[in-house]
Amino acid sequence: MKRTGTHWIDVSGGALRHNVGVLRSVVGSGTAIAAVVKANAYGHGLDEVVRAVGGTVDWMAVHTAAEARAVRSAGFAGPVLVMGFVPEWELFDLDLDVHVLVSTVEVLDALAAYRDREGVALPVHLKIETGTHRQGVKPERVPDLVRAAAARRLDVVGIATHFANIEDTLNHEFALSQLERFREAVGVLRRELGEEPPFVHAACSAAALLFREADFTLVRTGISLYGHWPSRETRLSWLLEHGRSEEVALRPALTWKALVGQIQDVPAGGTVGYGRTWTALRPTRLAVLPVGYADGYPRAMGNRARVVANGAAVPVVGRVCMNITMADVTDVEGLGVGDEVVLLGRQGDAEVTAETLAELAGTINYELLARLSPETPRVLVD
Ligand SMILES: *Cc1c(COP(=O)(O)O)cnc(C)c1O
Repeated sequence: MKRTGTHWIDVSGGALRHNVGVLRSVVGSGTAIAAVVKANAYGHGLDEVVRAVGGTVDWMAVHTAAEARAVRSAGFAGPVLVMGFVPEWELFDLDLDVHVLVSTVEVLDALAAYRDREGVALPVHLKIETGTHRQGVKPERVPDLVRAAAARRLDVVGIATHFANIEDTLNHEFALSQLERFREAVGVLRRELGEEPPFVHAACSAAALLFREADFTLVRTGISLYGHWPSRETRLSWLLEHGRSEEVALRPALTWKALVGQIQDVPAGGTVGYGRTWTALRPTRLAVLPVGYADGYPRAMGNRARVVANGAAVPVVGRVCMNITMADVTDVEGLGVGDEVVLLGRQGDAEVTAETLAELAGTINYELLARLSPETPRVLVD
C-alpha cells in the first residue's frame, strides 16, 4: 500500500453506499436524496465522498459556490444545491444544474448579474423561515420574492426550510409546527407559480429518519450518510416509535490512523508533556503519535481519550500538542515505530467513536468530524 503522510483518514466507500441504502429504505420511494457534502463532506473529504456516492445519490448539497465547483471537479454531473450565502463575486464556472437556495433579493441580484455576464441563469429555491430564525424569508414575503425573481428572468423551481430543534428533543411539536408553516408557504408558491414547485424539501438527517411527513420531493442528508445518528434523542425517538433500530444500522465511514513516530520509555515518577499533567506511576512505554490539535484532534482529549493500538484501547496521556500526542502503550505487546494506531474508528475489537470523542470534548459528532483538518490525506477504501 502506498502511504500518504504520517497520519491519514481512510474513508470507506462501502460504508457510505450502505448508509445511502439505509436512507433509501427509510424515506419514501418518490423522494430524492441529496448528499450534503459541505465542510469537506463533514471531514470525510469532499472529493472522496463524491466519487464514492456520486452514482447512488440524486443530488449533492453544499454551502458555497466553491464547493459546487469542487463537486463538479470530483465528477458529479447531477444537480447541486448551494445552501449558503452567495455573493456575486463567488459566481463563476457554475452550470445550469447548480441550484441556489435564496433568502434575499440581494442574492437574486447577484444571480441576475451572473446571468447577464455569463448567460447562465441558475435556478432558484426559496428558503423559508419557519422558526429557526437563521436563513430564510418569512412565508408572507414569498410573493415578493417570486415577483422579484420573475422581474430578473430567474426561475423559482424549489422551496425549502430547515428545522430548529429536531435533533435536540423527543418532543417534536415545534418541528411539526415548522412543517405546518412550511406547507402554507408551499401553497403560496404554488398559487404564485400556477403549478406545483418541482423541488420541495425540508428534511435533514433527523427528519429523514423520523418524519415521513417531511419527505416532500427531496431530503438533504449529511451526518447519517457518514454513518452517524444526529443525536441520542434522534435515536431514542426512532426506538420509541419502532421498538428497534436494526433497520437503521448506519456504518461510520471514517477511520483516522497515525503511525507511531517513536516509542518513549518513561521511568516511574517521570512526567509527560507540556505542563507535566501526567505522571508515570510505573515504568511506562509511550507511543508518540505525529498528530495533534492542529489536525483536528481536540486538545481536550489530553488525559481523557483513548486510541487503539494492536486492537486494544489505550489512554492518551499528557496534553495533546499542536502536532503530537502521546499514548500509554505499556500493556500493548510488540508495538513499534511505524505501526498504525487508530485515533477514531475501529481496529480489531476496539473502537473509538466520533460520539465518544465529541462528548469528551464537550461538543457533538458534527463538529468533531467537520473540524478534521482538510490537510490530512483522505484515502478512499473499498
Ligand atoms: C447541513 C445541513 C443539512 C444536513 O443536516 P444533517 O443533520 O447533517 O443531515 C441539511 N440542510 C441544511 C440547510 C443544512 O445546512
